Amino acid sequence: MVMKTEKMIYLDNSATTQVYPEAAAAATEAFQSVYGNPSSLHGMGIQAEKLVTAARQQVAMLVGARKEEIFFTGCGTESNNWALKGIADAYGAKGRHMITTAIEHPSILETTKYLQQKGWEVDFIAPDEHGVVAASAIIEKVRPDTVLVSMMAVNNETGAIQPMEAVGKGVKEKNPQTFFHVDGVQAVGKIPLALNHLPIDLLSGSGHKIHGPKGIGFLYVAKGVRLIPLLAGGGQEQGWRSGTENVPGIVAMGVAAEKIAGDLQEKQGRMAAIRQGFIEELLAKVPDCVINSPFDDKGAWPIVNASFPGVPSEVLLHYLEDEGIYISAGSACSARKKQYSPVLMAQGLQDDVLASAVRFSFSYETTAEELAYTAEKVSQVVQEVRSFRI
Ligand code: PLP
Repeated sequence: MVMKTEKMIYLDNSATTQVYPEAAAAATEAFQSVYGNPSSLHGMGIQAEKLVTAARQQVAMLVGARKEEIFFTGCGTESNNWALKGIADAYGAKGRHMITTAIEHPSILETTKYLQQKGWEVDFIAPDEHGVVAASAIIEKVRPDTVLVSMMAVNNETGAIQPMEAVGKGVKEKNPQTFFHVDGVQAVGKIPLALNHLPIDLLSGSGHKIHGPKGIGFLYVAKGVRLIPLLAGGGQEQGWRSGTENVPGIVAMGVAAEKIAGDLQEKQGRMAAIRQGFIEELLAKVPDCVINSPFDDKGAWPIVNASFPGVPSEVLLHYLEDEGIYISAGSACSARKKQYSPVLMAQGLQDDVLASAVRFSFSYETTAEELAYTAEKVSQVVQEVRSFRI
């Protein structure tokens, strides 16, 4: 029988991350000391405005952009909605065709459904069995009336890294008028991004995935790209996103961005090795386990999606929770809906693999020891649950 423990291993970092203490302290200062409205003309307003500007620079540095190209939003979901609807409204006269993939986050898929109802034609490109969408499959769909291509950089369920550079380049070669949006929510701070050197027009990011707070996000909009605002009002964010700025959230996201940017290459290399070790350990301990994420450098270090046929996802999740190990049975947004993951279904996986898929997701603080312990507990639980079923 698996025993209860006080240990806590948090492996649900793709759902959300713990706020860095430095980010929380910066937010507290903005809540309690620098609480002026950045639009106010007096000193307290100017102080708050300065904090917002510093945070814009910190976020810009993390993604290799200019600070004028960073617009703060309420979350990654808003950034994604705005990118699609804002481009559709600004450039809809040039055409009404978009391309995206079948494995996008609901904030993209639901927005494309909305646009379809408004008369837009949308192509959804399926991934291969490893969850990677071929750049050529997207590029070949580009037409003279294609206004936007939207693709995620890293899939939130499998960690599959999508070929954003090849897609951006190919799309622009075929139709220089087509805009390219990347949902970078699971990529920012996790894989190298140098936006000013990439053929990307728009990129969405979210504070709570990089150890900043929930309820703050940003949209990178390359110089020269025009967007119709989602929110009209007082004209904040250069008139592009009205609403009094969430100064504590912005400041905390800026501090988190600066911290996560430190030693990025070294951290990514270390975590890639730790992830690889975990996959090998799972396969050694549970030989019939199925790894639904790419094994090689097409798999981003923060995510391992794996199935243990015969052990339903929720059963493994709750057994591991009793052991102090927190994982996800799919993506957090769909975890409460009793249905198979559309992302994994798009990879063409079998029913028993779909029914037992779980996601382990890491932060730079995750250690090899924690993952060795997790692999050991997974194998114990799998043996125990399977023994009930024989
Ligand atoms: N895009 C991706 C790929 C995500 O994983 C998420 C959240 O999990 C979002 C967008 C939405 O971000 P937010 O939670 O900030 O709305």
